[in-house]
Amino acid sequence: MAIIGIDLGTTNSLVTCYRDGKTEMIRNSLGELLTPSVVSEDENGEILIGSIAKERLISHPGKTASEFKRSMGLRTAVRLGDKEYSPEELSALVLKKLREDAEKALGEPVDEAVISVPAYFDDNGRSATKLAARLAGLKCDRLVNEPSAAALCYQAEHGFEDGTFMIVDFGGGTLDVSLVDSFDSVIEILAVAGDNKLGGKDFNEAIVRFFCKRNELFYDSLMPDAKAAIYKSAENCKIALTTAPAAFMSVNIGDKQYSAALDNNRLIAEAAEIFERVGTPVRKVLKDAKMSIDNIDEIILVGGSCRMPTVRAYIEQLTGKKPCTDINPDTAIAAGAGIFAAIKDRNDRLRDVVMTDICPFSLGISVLNTDTNEDVMSFIIERNTVLPSSRTECYCPAHEKQTRSVIKLYQGERIDPKKNLFLGELEITYPPCDPDTPCFNVKMTYDINGILIVDVDVIATGKHYSRVILKQNGSMSSAEAEAAVNRLQSLVITPADREENRLLIARAERMYEESLSAARHMIGECLGYFKAALANGKGREIRDASRRLTELLDRIENEPL
Ligand code: ADP
Ligand code: MG
Repeated sequence: MAIIGIDLGTTNSLVTCYRDGKTEMIRNSLGELLTPSVVSEDENGEILIGSIAKERLISHPGKTASEFKRSMGLRTAVRLGDKEYSPEELSALVLKKLREDAEKALGEPVDEAVISVPAYFDDNGRSATKLAARLAGLKCDRLVNEPSAAALCYQAEHGFEDGTFMIVDFGGGTLDVSLVDSFDSVIEILAVAGDNKLGGKDFNEAIVRFFCKRNELFYDSLMPDAKAAIYKSAENCKIALTTAPAAFMSVNIGDKQYSAALDNNRLIAEAAEIFERVGTPVRKVLKDAKMSIDNIDEIILVGGSCRMPTVRAYIEQLTGKKPCTDINPDTAIAAGAGIFAAIKDRNDRLRDVVMTDICPFSLGISVLNTDTNEDVMSFIIERNTVLPSSRTECYCPAHEKQTRSVIKLYQGERIDPKKNLFLGELEITYPPCDPDTPCFNVKMTYDINGILIVDVDVIATGKHYSRVILKQNGSMSSAEAEAAVNRLQSLVITPADREENRLLIARAERMYEESLSAARHMIGECLGYFKAALANGKGREIRDASRRLTELLDRIENEPL
């Protein structure tokens, strides 16, 4: 059975499969490579996923969810209509769609996937992603950091030559910068840094602010529909600026039309703060790895926002080095995840490639600082340690006559244990000893699948304690997880053969809301014909009405201002 590789993105997702020595991108049922990570519920309670759902962000904001990857592992709920969904359930719906598209394209069942996650995801985010896979009927015991996957894609295309690479992955909602070393068929991640609250969305928002300022609109007092229409127009303008020197925005609000023009210089000025924030992880990753830009052989740009010429120029100016441009920023991570899947499947051609990964956070225990009488962290496995890793530290009791300790395990970078993520605890006992003599060893072993094993040995007695921390179920208990599986199975998901029609209706409805007078009237009429044709169910009539509606929408969309 095939194993697929999935880039489960904040904005867009993509599925690949490794066959006959190369990764194949799998198109969805609408023929698209990228499936927007958006879920919507329609009037009949049916679930829509991907482009159709994205179209409804504007027309049905209260029934449409996007960017739920940002809340993976947090105990939040998103309301779609009158139902609430966890971020894991929403991600599961996207994964289920990708899985079905892959099964259709490959002509065989798929039950296993390698899924990429941002390097900065903590244990909760990682476990939540595995849970989402489980809810979608996919076995996923291997997650890969997105930059690792991008590195592997680059290596696969350029040959496995030795070198050190900087990967800048700038997507819709996250920025990950990582250093990757390739030596003798071993691909090793040296360091990662990032900003998981920075992405293409921030450029969209900067353009929205510019548009409102130009038109003297007070954004906060606009209706949700108007806000969404400006937002969509801002994103289109940003994408147009990738290939054109200037772009225009035009939005109808009420019975008035508002417009603005933007060029790349203006965008740089309006988004100055965003560019500055891009610099921070770039500097940090070099500092963490104790390297300078001269040690980097190639800068590899991935993620949709790296298509922007302003972003490319900024990174070039920041580093003094021209980034590599010949790998596809949209598909690199999914391709890498596909190659990981093949490695997992022990595909012959890839047997020699060894992947290592790094621990994106520090792991340690809470200890008492006897000078201040405060609990502080003692780190055992530090952030950016190459995995799998096993380290031992020796500890003394805090007080004389002490015969018992509760070892509290934490993940995170803060000195105050309470501000880190609590993973579990282990109680040990030992004979009284002098507070300055080593009393027990704590060994932490962390593997590439996110399993933490903690072993404690009491030196005087040889007594051994062990604890395995495996947060497979993420933030849900198993009973909650089972209930979620059942709930997802009972949802009605629009069958693929009806998707194209649904997308057309959603697009027509959005454009109906955005346009005025004659155009609005024509769309309404044409949409009416199309819906009537669908209801009558005659193939030829449907195709004819569909073509007429599509032509009309294309014409209106392309009409000059
Ligand atoms: P994610 O990893 O968050 O799922 P992607 O890597 O797919 O996201 O990037 C999505 C972002 O890239 C969006 O903000 C989108 O507006 C932006 N984007 C896509 N294509 C272009 C382009 N040609 N020019 C500028 N931005 C683009
Ligand atoms: Mg991405």
